[in-house]
Amino acid sequence: MNEGSTRGFRAYTSKHLDGLLQRGGVGDEERLRIRAVATVLPFRTNAYVVDQLIDWSAVPEDPIYRLVFPQADMLPEADVTRLASLLNAGARNAEIQAAANEVRMRLNPHPAGQLELNVPRIGQEPVPGMQHKYPETLLFFPKQGQTCHAYCTYCFRWAQFIGEPDLKFASDDVDSLVSYLKDHPEVTSVLFTGGDPMIMSEAVLRRYLEPLLEVEQLESIRIGTKSLAYWPQRFVSDPDSADTLRLFASVADAGKTLAFMAHFSHPREMESPIVEAAVAGILSTGAVIRTQAPLIRSINDDPGTWSSMWRRQLTMGMVPYYMFVERDTGPQDYFAVPLARAYEIFRDAYASVSGLCRTVRGPSMSATPGKVCVDGVAEIAGQKVFVLHLIQARDPELVGRPFFARYDPKAVWLTDLQPAFADRFPFEPATVQRLSA
Ligand SMILES: *Cc1c(COP(=O)(O)O)cnc(C)c1O
Repeated sequence: MNEGSTRGFRAYTSKHLDGLLQRGGVGDEERLRIRAVATVLPFRTNAYVVDQLIDWSAVPEDPIYRLVFPQADMLPEADVTRLASLLNAGARNAEIQAAANEVRMRLNPHPAGQLELNVPRIGQEPVPGMQHKYPETLLFFPKQGQTCHAYCTYCFRWAQFIGEPDLKFASDDVDSLVSYLKDHPEVTSVLFTGGDPMIMSEAVLRRYLEPLLEVEQLESIRIGTKSLAYWPQRFVSDPDSADTLRLFASVADAGKTLAFMAHFSHPREMESPIVEAAVAGILSTGAVIRTQAPLIRSINDDPGTWSSMWRRQLTMGMVPYYMFVERDTGPQDYFAVPLARAYEIFRDAYASVSGLCRTVRGPSMSATPGKVCVDGVAEIAGQKVFVLHLIQARDPELVGRPFFARYDPKAVWLTDLQPAFADRFPFEPATVQRLSA
């Protein structure tokens, strides 16, 4: 991993947390409780985020502060109090870790069958580091890409960043990736994810990308990344930035689309001139940049934030893609926005932007059966219902067909919903009891 100061990038981790908070003027008791939360959830940031993105005069309400710094009330109060008193008493690390681990296990660290359900096989052998849920798109988790330039407090992959061994399913086996693709001509898109693949140096990234350029049926390579928000230097001033852009250009030269799936949570992340330079550099290689983010309470849960984000993306040459619903893991109670409210925020934002921004879809739940979009709330035959459809589905037969759920103002996830006008949802088997998502 490229932690080295040779690239100008320096990560701040939990051992820097107290000092950073002190500099930001956070009081003693609050700092202790935040450190207690950080024994459970991963913390990582960097100088660019701390010095250039966060407005320290607005802490703790500042959205970028809330995006990367743990909050004292993110976890149940009793847990935070217990961990804080262990820290305060100078308890042994093993004791603190055991207590933290107990709290983690109550946070649904493995949402939506992430590990068991989607493992591709060559013959009988499972291929590590891959997930294959939809026929045309394969997810690949490169081994050297299993961290990020900073962690988001709401990250649904939080568990893998605290080193739970059975959650580490990354791979450096490019040959297996290529041979899987040759056996599966229906796969036309490979999505590199992680972690953030752009944490890898150009030399490492090239080892993964170049062999794919020879796979004939492959139409697109996607890179899921938050680097444009957290470390735009990666494309502008890092020692390998020029080589990285040349590598991107070689994808277009091979006749394939390179799609940057850029994660932007807030318009502030797009303000600095260095982000503009990074976006312009990437676009100049022939790559496209599509944008996505989850809707998060206290960070971006109002229509104005989303419409200004989409507008800014459009003027910079990026294409709005997905608004996600926060997943059912980690401190979900803290960040969740009810589906009914999520739909209103999406609709109000969507209604106020030009058609060129309306490439965006959502609010979308990435759940076990697929990506479920909340299209709206309607009254049908005297019953108030959610109108939904699958944008993506394990079973492509179900894509794009409307279905209904009983309206529930408190529902925050697919598993909270009950079917309306039917005894099951279309993605549930007819013969067995209803699956939970
Ligand atoms: C979202 C997702 C994809 C990509 O879906 P698109 O709708 O094509 O963006 C692929 N695999 C998994 C597991 C996903 O969650």
